[in-house]
Amino acid sequence: DGSLAARTVRTTCPYCGVGCGIRATPDGRGGAAIEGDTDHPANHGRLCSKGAALGETIGLADRLLHPEVGGKRASWDAALDAVAEGFARALERLGPDGVALYVSGQLLTEDYYAANKFAKGVLGTGNIDSNSRLCMASAVAAHRRAFGEDVVPGVYEDLEQADLLVLVGSNLAWCHPVLFQRVMAAKVARPEMRIVVIDPRRTATCEGADTHLAIAPASDVALFAALLAHLEVAGLGDAGRLEGADAALAAARAIAPDAPVLTGLPAEEIAAFCALWAATPRVVTLWSQGVNQSSAGTDKANAIINAHLYTGRIGRPGMGPFSVTGQPNAMGGRETGALANMLAGHLDWERPGEHAALASFWGLPRLATKSGLKAVDLFRRLGDGGIGALWVMATNPAVSLPEGDAVRGALAAAPFLVVSDTTQRSDTAAFAHIRLPALAWGEKDGTVTNSERMISRQRAFLPAPGEARPDWWAVAQVARRLGHGDAFAWRDPSAIFREHATVTGLARPAPRAFDISGLAGMTEADYAAMRPTRWPVPAGAPSRERFFADGDVPAGRARLVPIRFRAPDTQPDAAFPLRLLTGRLRDQWHTMTRTGGVPRLMAHAPEPMLTLHPDDLPELVAGTLVKAETPTGSAVMRLARDAGQRRGTAFVPMHWTAQFAPAARINAALIAATDPVSGQPELKHSPLRVVHY
Ligand code: SF4
Repeated sequence: DGSLAARTVRTTCPYCGVGCGIRATPDGRGGAAIEGDTDHPANHGRLCSKGAALGETIGLADRLLHPEVGGKRASWDAALDAVAEGFARALERLGPDGVALYVSGQLLTEDYYAANKFAKGVLGTGNIDSNSRLCMASAVAAHRRAFGEDVVPGVYEDLEQADLLVLVGSNLAWCHPVLFQRVMAAKVARPEMRIVVIDPRRTATCEGADTHLAIAPASDVALFAALLAHLEVAGLGDAGRLEGADAALAAARAIAPDAPVLTGLPAEEIAAFCALWAATPRVVTLWSQGVNQSSAGTDKANAIINAHLYTGRIGRPGMGPFSVTGQPNAMGGRETGALANMLAGHLDWERPGEHAALASFWGLPRLATKSGLKAVDLFRRLGDGGIGALWVMATNPAVSLPEGDAVRGALAAAPFLVVSDTTQRSDTAAFAHIRLPALAWGEKDGTVTNSERMISRQRAFLPAPGEARPDWWAVAQVARRLGHGDAFAWRDPSAIFREHATVTGLARPAPRAFDISGLAGMTEADYAAMRPTRWPVPAGAPSRERFFADGDVPAGRARLVPIRFRAPDTQPDAAFPLRLLTGRLRDQWHTMTRTGGVPRLMAHAPEPMLTLHPDDLPELVAGTLVKAETPTGSAVMRLARDAGQRRGTAFVPMHWTAQFAPAARINAALIAATDPVSGQPELKHSPLRVVHY
């Protein structure tokens, strides 16, 4: 498209939650040159291997370019009529509890907003959940328990300004590489900065750290209880200052003596960690999926937050608890309420008047009156026949959800399954009755919010291929067919963004944490030119950079949560003596639908491997095929050995799909235990045995 050639467009990386700014210059032949945006505050021009290779992922191979009904090409009109009919039929047969959407942190905020409004406002169901449930639902739940609202208190600069950075369950070097580069640059500038990694595995991140605490899986609560108890003895907190402090301290005191046994860490290592943390006022404790993807994920995150709240080390430069999200727009899903237990704009069913305010603003008569099914339960209900129509957007649950064989069975038996995606080769799309071609990165327009609350624009720099359309447009067309076109009459994504911004100013008394009502008056031109903007942006009031600094803790809003230690329900035993940990690789993204097509990214790890410590099962030779078996399923791959792997555990990457390695889909082997508060599945703790294949 010559009209787009030679025009450099500022956009945002579609991969991880760092949210790096990118300058894309289309070449007029369907490709584009990609470089880091030196003006973007998240990356200042840096990119990682995945971001730098984005130009190699924008070809049209394997793209879904036309709607399909029953496996045959169809017009958009016919496909949208069929979607509307399918949902109307299921609503009539099963009511609002019998329909569902399963969406994704890959969606733009505007798509997310439209999908949530459609599910909760038109279908009247709370059954819309996101793959963010697998990513940071535990962090969200912990924020809400501690702060009364889902808010990340700090900003990326805090990681650079900290004198002590503690990374818990985070392989930052591989999973948030540009943030890791920023941290490493800060450490070069200030060599006295200390970095502690808490992780069962010795990961690439440990190479940049001063200390690695090789903690036993699922035991973080015990370590942070020992820390809180230590902080009390050291006189570093004021129990009278914060709600919940007395109970939280009592709970920590009860656990602390058992911390060495529970964590598997020598008592002197725990003592040294606690002493360092206590002696360093500027401390950031950052966590990621090693904390969240756990049946005690919310408790782990609150145990971390407790230590910061108790000492007041929060909301000031270089201090605070910090959750980094996996996906580019995991935060956007939270903001628009596209999770089963949230309403739009951080509004809440539980707080008086907020449901009514949203119903009145939307003007839709049947706004869902209760929360819906979270991801794991949603697919179980699908398998039980309780969901009559499901619309999956921009995600691949057949590969990513635990108990993957059961999920596949549920998808195969679904009475009515719609999949919106960019690719034909998603494992989930293979089960769809209707496939809708979505726009890919580089073609779609909207916003995303990164891990530090920075809203950035993703902008189109390539023409829409074939008949691909924005997801928000498809949703609006179906809503129109179900009689609610007026509420979905957006001309472009800027109109959706304005509506979304308006919702954030409804009902809740100021000051609100998530408040972008100051952006509700944006013109199309403002939106087109929008620079990265960190929330909050309240109307008629100053913004602020951080939350919950001393004197900025509104009474009743920030509190410590008493945490008890809970071991996972399923433990290794004689039949399954090991523990299976899953995670990401440096150069792959999700289920490889994009990165799997780039040879130089594949070269980093050409095939899935199961990694064991050299002393575990020494009779198995590295490089041979092994079978990983758990109580729920199995996968086959080659064996690797690494002395950095904690004894008694195995690590397997989560990326491989049926297309790339059909026998190696590790999600088939993952148990689907979930956190009772957040609903996040435990993706790092399945009992396992490994045998020769
Ligand atoms: Fe993209 Fe994350 Fe890499 Fe930045 S660090 S370029 S956001 S994948």
